[in-house]
Amino acid sequence: MRRKVRVAIDGPAGAGKSTVARKLSERLGYLLLDTGALYRTVALAAQRGSIEWDDAERMKALAEDLVARRRLVIERGEGVGMRIHLDGDDVSMSIRSPEVSIGASRVSRIPAVRAALLDMQRREGLEGGVVLEGRDIGTVVFPDAEAKFFLTASTEIRARRRFDELAAQGTAASYETTLAEVESRDKADTERAVAPLKQAEDAIVVDSSNREVNDVVEEMARVVEERERG
Ligand code: C5P
Repeated sequence: MRRKVRVAIDGPAGAGKSTVARKLSERLGYLLLDTGALYRTVALAAQRGSIEWDDAERMKALAEDLVARRRLVIERGEGVGMRIHLDGDDVSMSIRSPEVSIGASRVSRIPAVRAALLDMQRREGLEGGVVLEGRDIGTVVFPDAEAKFFLTASTEIRARRRFDELAAQGTAASYETTLAEVESRDKADTERAVAPLKQAEDAIVVDSSNREVNDVVEEMARVVEERERG
């Protein structure tokens, strides 16, 4: 008999996690949880509430309030993937701006913000049958996830992908600025004190630099199916 497992995908910005996680979840018939979207929504909520991203005390109160009063809500549905609502507003697109990327990286350094989002992430993954994508899924959120991947790619390729993604959204940014943004987020994510981006010891490293997305997804799906059989 097959059991539904938890799949953790961690890795740096622009490694292709979002696309791979979405396709893998579709291929397996699993739910998808993009945990970066949660940090992004907290950053956006701060911006809307005129709270400084580095104000640890106010950010703690904000993050706890967003979760406790269900101001931050994840919506799922057939063919919808995952959408995210803030105060009843669908913010799935607005959390993708370069500014909010920076904000997400800043607020994610605050331990109380991470703690507020931790339970929410664990609740979502409780029953298995879910692909979770982030930075600390295999190390902190679900250290006992049945399948763990660390998806990576060269810095230049990651910046190029991010640049193309922003261009497709109509956001004007140069490749150089995008590269600098990717490098600075990598640095902040790997060097922060709480739950830094790092590869779990038992994670399978997948380098997506010169590979087709479908090929990467197929490789990962085979691993998951093996774990499903126990
Ligand atoms: O994955 P994404 O680029 O959307 O994540 C935005 C930011 O949120 C990351 O740069 C990182 O600082 C933070 N994040 C995190 N832990 C996660 C997911 C995202 O700290 N599990």
